Amino acid sequence: MEQNMEYIVGVDLGGTKIATALLDLNGKILRRVRNETTPLKSAKEVIDCLIHSVHKVRGDIPITGVGVASPGAVDTKRGIILNGANLPEWVNIPLRQEMESQLELPVQIANDANAAAWGEYYAGAGKGSKTMAYITISTGIGSGIILDGRLLLGSNGYAGELGHTMIVQDGQLCGCGQLGCWEAYASGTSIARIAKEAAEKKFSLMTELAAQDGTVIGAKHLFKAASLGDSVAIGVIDEATSYIASGLKNVIHTFNPDCIVIGGGVSLAGDDLFAPVLEKTKRLVMEPYRETFRIVPALLGEDVGVVGAATLSFT
Ligand SMILES: [Zn+2]
Repeated sequence: MEQNMEYIVGVDLGGTKIATALLDLNGKILRRVRNETTPLKSAKEVIDCLIHSVHKVRGDIPITGVGVASPGAVDTKRGIILNGANLPEWVNIPLRQEMESQLELPVQIANDANAAAWGEYYAGAGKGSKTMAYITISTGIGSGIILDGRLLLGSNGYAGELGHTMIVQDGQLCGCGQLGCWEAYASGTSIARIAKEAAEKKFSLMTELAAQDGTVIGAKHLFKAASLGDSVAIGVIDEATSYIASGLKNVIHTFNPDCIVIGGGVSLAGDDLFAPVLEKTKRLVMEPYRETFRIVPALLGEDVGVVGAATLSFT
């Protein structure tokens, strides 16, 4: 450890694990601790586990603060977890107050997608940008916005739920219970649904590739089949990238980002995904916006939660 360097701790609280890391102020990870938890643990047990993880990862290193990324609805300003999604007992938990009194250190908390957005902005693919949109495309679509260098929270800390903006009126049912959300068309789950429906109508290599893996059609089979010239898979990628671009058009016209960072499992498809998405998005936006943004893959991978959480105090 360097003298005169300050250190911070980030905690990524998930439904089944607590990932904790010690970082320097540049967002570089120096140490990690990972604890398994279960969704059935009580709020008190999870808080005890959080405190224990922080002590374990810091050891005898002095730290200046702790940040926590939590799933679900988080009131960042008041430091309260309003509803922890897959943590059933997490309702109205004053987490910041609980942790600050036990650790005697400043604690910041944020929703996991907002923390991830901040992480990519502070130390990842969006470093150096001014206004950045972070979109993670996996089971659902998560997102967070950095506006003029600040994490956009909104009046309750709920800002940036771009996955639930509407792209088709009276469209597909979304996991949130509403119809036509962007997530219901462009998430990994939705793209797999489009692929499955297409492969049921017409023969596709996707069916064979999935059968070889003993599984259902997923993103991997889709991109592999397309690379082998399968016309059904090529059509599905065309449709999926059009849906992704439709949502990005809304993001660009709303926030005017100079950088859009895309993470999540779907982003691993690389240029097969990014090239058509960029080309279609440029075609959809109004002319003055066309050369104002870049679309890049996320850089931090699984570390995005701890890096974003740790650096929240710099928001
Ligand atoms: Zn929705």
